[in-house]
Amino acid sequence: MKKFCLLAIVIFVQVATIVAQEPTSQYKEKEVFRSEDVIFRQIDAHTWVGNGHLIANESLYLIEGNERAILIDAGKKIADLDKIVASITDKPVTLVATHVHSDHTGEPIHYFPVIYLNAADTVNVPGTMPNYKGEIRYLKDGEMIDLGGRRIEVVFTPGHTPGSTTFIDKEKGYGFSGDAFGSGNLLLGTDFSTLLATCEKMEGLMKKYKLTHLYPGHYMGTNIETPKRISDMRQMSIDMLAGKVKGEKTERGMMGLDHVLNMHGVRINYGEKQLK
Ligand SMILES: [Zn+2]
Ligand SMILES: [Zn+2]
Repeated sequence: MKKFCLLAIVIFVQVATIVAQEPTSQYKEKEVFRSEDVIFRQIDAHTWVGNGHLIANESLYLIEGNERAILIDAGKKIADLDKIVASITDKPVTLVATHVHSDHTGEPIHYFPVIYLNAADTVNVPGTMPNYKGEIRYLKDGEMIDLGGRRIEVVFTPGHTPGSTTFIDKEKGYGFSGDAFGSGNLLLGTDFSTLLATCEKMEGLMKKYKLTHLYPGHYMGTNIETPKRISDMRQMSIDMLAGKVKGEKTERGMMGLDHVLNMHGVRINYGEKQLK
């Protein structure tokens, strides 16, 4: 009995810790599709977000133009994802990835004959998508994806991974940033110099295009990325590189990262060797 109680307490503490780390999910968008694996909600007339429930509400975005559509990321495990998106849009759908991690380029990529990604994330391909039988094509920094009456700009935003990419809809005033920005905790898979350069670049673009927010790779309904947070992260990177601020040592967590810098409501998880 004692053993059982102890086990129950351990499980409770673990679950409580996971829940505490994630912002509460609170969606205002209208639900348009639900299966066991995913819920799609409508952001606006031609834009939808899908949320899985395996890794912190892993998110995929369906962006439709007059002629075609892109699906940004494919989640971790969603049966018949190709059929699901075809039930939402009647336009042909091309799969593009914000980065190569199993919660974004997971099993459902197999439903798509081609995937577009940033070549810098090829380093993650053997470990993450070793059995992909389709064709891998590469995105170009600054290229425009023309969907017919709607243009999406590809912006390389390395930091979380070497090939992390953000997709921007200038007209609408928003973008889709994967895990590069806005997922509550930034897991720094590269280093602070890379993050600084990316924050500089994105801060400039958000100003120039008057973007109000970025939808992240783990959208909970409340955690969109803002220009203010990106300038905070830029400053944190500068101060970190100058030795003006110090993070705390933590247990080895996701991606083997064992330090966290927690300021301005932003958490950047990093490892000792990334202090450059
Ligand atoms: Zn990731
Ligand atoms: Zn992710």
